[in-house]
Amino acid sequence: EKLGMNELREKYLSFFESKGHLRLPSFSLIPKNDKSLLLINAGMAPLKPYFTGKEIPPSKRITTCQKCIRTPDIERVGKTARHGTFFEMLGNFSFGDYFKKEAILWAWEFVTKELRLPEERLWVTIYEKDDEAFEIWNKIVGLPAGKIVRMGKEDNFWEIGIGPCGPCSEIYFDRGEDKGCGKPECGIGCDCDRFIEFWNLVFTQFNKDAEGNYNPLPNPNIDTGMGLERIATVMQDVDSIFDVDVVRGITDFVGKISGVKYGTDKKADISLRVITDHIRGVVFMISDGILPSNEGRGYVLRRILRRAARHGKLLGLNEAFLYKIVDVVIKHYGDAYPELVERKDYIKKIVKIEEERFKETIDQGLNILNLYVEELKNQGENILDGVKAFKLYDTYGFPIDLTKEILQEVGIDVDEEEYKRELDKQRIRARSSRKEDSNIWEKDIYAGLKDIKTHFVGYNNIETHSKVL
Ligand code: ATP
Ligand code: MG
Ligand code: MG
Ligand code: MG
Repeated sequence: EKLGMNELREKYLSFFESKGHLRLPSFSLIPKNDKSLLLINAGMAPLKPYFTGKEIPPSKRITTCQKCIRTPDIERVGKTARHGTFFEMLGNFSFGDYFKKEAILWAWEFVTKELRLPEERLWVTIYEKDDEAFEIWNKIVGLPAGKIVRMGKEDNFWEIGIGPCGPCSEIYFDRGEDKGCGKPECGIGCDCDRFIEFWNLVFTQFNKDAEGNYNPLPNPNIDTGMGLERIATVMQDVDSIFDVDVVRGITDFVGKISGVKYGTDKKADISLRVITDHIRGVVFMISDGILPSNEGRGYVLRRILRRAARHGKLLGLNEAFLYKIVDVVIKHYGDAYPELVERKDYIKKIVKIEEERFKETIDQGLNILNLYVEELKNQGENILDGVKAFKLYDTYGFPIDLTKEILQEVGIDVDEEEYKRELDKQRIRARSSRKEDSNIWEKDIYAGLKDIKTHFVGYNNIETHSKVL
């Protein structure tokens, strides 16, 4: 049975509703009252106040499908089968209600009964000291001991500093030898994509104090996260998250407008996937009220948009093209995320402005970067100095990670420390002069849109704001 991504999402949420969970819509990508996080990166992130007890949840059992951004995975996008910077995380949560046994049994029921995945291809990991989890998997579920892999703290224990923490158990699907690296030691935990991790069950049962003691929580919590694209990859028996129905629709469209057929050239495929991934992140971020800027969330948006634009160049797309993909993204995601449909014209407008802005300088920047590379090669060096990297940023709008990515392809590193010093110097200059910064990218042409950002109801009034565009 080939379930589409939209059907899978629904199947999951209604399954957990049938187990007494309250279904909530995805929260915004912008964290609320949480300075520790730039963008929501997991289903539990917006629910933190319920886990810590700071707020009372509307129900002790909640289920969501949460839009997520993980920029730390950016370099893996397109290269592995399983990483996007944008993805959706399905989750079921218990706030001091059910615990380990129910979480495991329901996960197993969903995977084997609802989705009917063959048991013989499923594996699980547990935290090495979590004998309770072992017993549940082995005695109650009936999974053979050989398929329950004990892992260390880095992999299977969830904690951030002090506060609630606990062991976790993850579910993997064996996609078969042909999807693996072929190394004899390949198995669970191997970074290749044969054994694909798709569901993480976190058992928040301790409170870590300042002395490092793990004190049992009187009412332990459950936090689970399953990547929707990953489970869809498994269910649809396709190569990667970019081949899943909804996502593939976008990948194919990018292929169409660039005249490059997906699946014919390895390098081009990476670019097609990067664009597919990044444009989704861009669309969702803008719809949540983020605008391109040189700081914080806005800079994440700018970075991924420019990275996508550059991959377009690699495919031979020399005119603005990203804004054209917005329609396709919204066509596929609009039913699940109506806010996208509502804000479609606005999103397109922002993408186009930002894209065209970068287009003005990208070619010059690339030419200069090529000169730098030649110079370095002639000198037998392989590190670009930070002043030059800063110039690329300041004059040509090249985010540092873009410069790094391009140089990496020819085996050159960047002196990032020096780059940061240059950046700091500029910030101090800007502050002391209090005038407009010399950096053309600092000029905030989106300033007139800031109002819209804070109250989204103003969308019907988009035309009145469009003047500033
Ligand atoms: P991996 O080891 O494959 O990088 P992870 O251990 O970092 O995954 P978790 O933090 O456990 O992932 O997140 C819970 C689930 O969210 C994962 O099991 C996976 O299904 C999904 N997920 C995590 N990162 C990504 C990503 N970059 N793209 C798509 N899905 C992801
Ligand atoms: Mg990861
Ligand atoms: Mg992992
Ligand atoms: Mg994990």
